[in-house]
Formats: sequence, structure tokens, C-alpha cells
Amino acid sequence: MGRVVILLGAPGAGKGTQAAQLSKNLGLAHISTGDLFRENLKNNTPLGDQAREFMNSGRLVPDALVIEMLFDRVSKPDCEVGYLLDGFPRTIPQAAALEEALGTDADVVALSIEIRDAAIIERATGRLLCRGCTAIYHRTFSPPAQAGVCGECGGELFQREDDQEEVVAKRLNVYHAETAPLVEYYSDRDLLVGVNGEQAPDQVTEALLAGLSASCAADDRGSN
Ligand code: AMP
Repeated sequence: MGRVVILLGAPGAGKGTQAAQLSKNLGLAHISTGDLFRENLKNNTPLGDQAREFMNSGRLVPDALVIEMLFDRVSKPDCEVGYLLDGFPRTIPQAAALEEALGTDADVVALSIEIRDAAIIERATGRLLCRGCTAIYHRTFSPPAQAGVCGECGGELFQREDDQEEVVAKRLNVYHAETAPLVEYYSDRDLLVGVNGEQAPDQVTEALLAGLSASCAADDRGSN
């Protein structure tokens, strides 16, 4: 097992955007548990049916379901050399399950995208997705030329159910209660790199890559 990069950050901190950049840059498979669940929802699988209510109300899907789905995904050949996790772990039991599964073989680093709640609410509640392709817009920061219509494919734009303001607030509460403790968890293990998430996306990517290089250099020094 090679390298496992964990992206931490509140929902809406830009983990998905950054994960896509980092996975390209590092040549690691991008594993998003949110995307895996949405795929299951779309295909009406039994797992999707079990997860739907939790997701739509901004709650976390129970650990056992997430852990099973994740381990099944990372057992695929494209994860043999390592992978990048976006949205997992989200609780201490999930982190402990991952730590146990990886043992001492993997080179693990947790990158934390730091951002204030107020900035998250502004970002998330303005986000618009296309039903036809994967394009993402923002009412304020990157509005479509024609309201409600995707400039890439002409598809209809919509707001994700869990991006509505009350749901975002609920997800932030859940984040502070359940996921924020992971920052300390990885910091205690000397595996944490924090970056300022309130910069332009390109700058955040640069900071994340710089943080990763610095952590690898420190590892190399440690093992020499
Ligand atoms: P995301 O796209 O990462 O924001 O995930 C969307 C939703 O999927 C979350 O609000 C949760 O309901 C569920 N979910 C995704 N990843 C996890 C996880 N690691 N643990 C529990 N629930 C998750």
C-alpha cells in the first residue's frame, strides 16, 4: 500500500474541488464517499435507500454502512498504489477503522482545509449544479450567463437538497460535533497539515501541494 491522502474540512470547504486537482497532480484515485452515496441513490440500490434519509437531512450515514462501502471501493485495483479520500473519515470510529485497516504499511497524511462557518454558508447556499453534466456554478462567484441554464450543455441548474441553508447549518453542527475532532486525532499522530481555505482555489491547491511536499520531506528525514 502506497500513499493515503485524507482531505479534512467542513462540508463546503472545497474538498471536492481540491481533491480533483490533487488526484490529477498526484496520480491517486479520488475517492469521495459523498459521490459514492449519490451514485447509489441515483441507482436506487439498497445502500442508497438506507442512506437517503440521512443525506437529505444533513446527518451522517451510520459508520458501519460508510466503512463497508469505502473498504469495498479501495480494494479495487486503481487504489493499489494509494488513494485520496474526500469526505472520509468523518467520525473518530471511521478514522480508527481506517487506521486499523492500513496498519503501518501506508504513508498517511491528513490535509485540513480551514475555513470559517460564515464563508461556508455563503458558498454552499449559492452553489448550483447541472443536471446534464458535472458543471458547477455559484449565484455570486461564478453565475451562469443565463439564469438556471448550464453554459456547457444547456442542462437545467439545480440546488443540491443538502445545500439549502437549514441543511447547511445542520451539516456544520454535525461537522463540529463529529468531524472536527479528527483534526486533533491526526495532529496527535503528527500526520496533519493545515492550510487556509479562504483563498482562491488555485492558491489552496498550491498550499496543499506545498504542505504535502513538506510532510514527505519530514518523513524522509525521520526515516533516515
Ligand atoms: P459530501 O458530498 O461529502 O458532503 O457527502 C454528502 C452526504 O453523504 C453527507 O452529508 C452524509 O450524509 C453522507 N456522507 C458522505 N461521507 C460520509 C461519511 N464519511 N460518513 C457519514 N456520512 C457520509
